[in-house]
Amino acid sequence: MRMELSHMRQRMMAFFRPFHHLDAATITCAGIYFDWKIRKADVLISFMAHEMGHGFGLLDCPRCRDTVMRFFPSVNQGNGFYEATAADKSLIRAKYYRHVAATVSERAGTY
Ligand SMILES: [Zn+2]
Repeated sequence: MRMELSHMRQRMMAFFRPFHHLDAATITCAGIYFDWKIRKADVLISFMAHEMGHGFGLLDCPRCRDTVMRFFPSVNQGNGFYEATAADKSLIRAKYYRHVAATVSERAGTY
């Protein structure tokens, strides 16, 4: 969804919003909002990749150089990444398997 976001928080250019959770770690419905001022397609793709990272549980990492979660210089300048990096994928895998392991052990405790 595209809309005016600067009234919500200064320098907010996009955000990920979960609408429905299956459990604490499983989002079943979410939206990504982009500021209208984003005009360049490649920048929009960069924001999309970053916000999808939030959907996978990644946090902003403004000063990092190897992640799609790094800082955006301005509303029409991408952060240099257009998809998850190897570092992002590694972190997502670690978070996913940690959750699966926790879920399996929680379930094992209920039987
Ligand atoms: Zn972010």
